[in-house]
Amino acid sequence: MPTQLDTYQRKRDFRRTPEPRGARRRARGKLRFVVQRHDATRLHYDFRLEHDGVLKSWAVPKEPSLNPKDRRLAVQTEDHPLDYGGFEGEIPEGEYGAGSVVIWDRGHWQPLGDVDEGLEEGKLDFELAGERLKGRFTLVRMAERSKRKPGKDSWLLLKR
Ligand code: MN
Repeated sequence: MPTQLDTYQRKRDFRRTPEPRGARRRARGKLRFVVQRHDATRLHYDFRLEHDGVLKSWAVPKEPSLNPKDRRLAVQTEDHPLDYGGFEGEIPEGEYGAGSVVIWDRGHWQPLGDVDEGLEEGKLDFELAGERLKGRFTLVRMAERSKRKPGKDSWLLLKR
């Protein structure tokens, strides 16, 4: 039976990349979030929320903003292991996501509502308590516009 991390592990050669192989695991206490600045082919910010033993992940092409007028595209990507939340380093040339990863922000997050329902329905309200990102945010999935250009993985990250 496939686990939530199969896609993550399939995309990477752990003999070559310094990224953690990871495993799904239960963590105690507050839920963590992390934003990693990933200087890959295209610079982006990986926004990750701890849920159900993994990090739910979105790639945000522009720096996340505290301005409620900014709407940040956030493309959902594969779940990452919790251990990834502490990862910083250089992914070698030729490997998936080649480039440097540094932690841009981290802290705790508090969902406002049921997370599984929110992920299914495409609307997640939450509070962030990080160094840079603080306060109430929403991730909302954009409607699928056409079959040729499916938008089901595209969300917007909004500051409330
Ligand atoms: Mn990335």
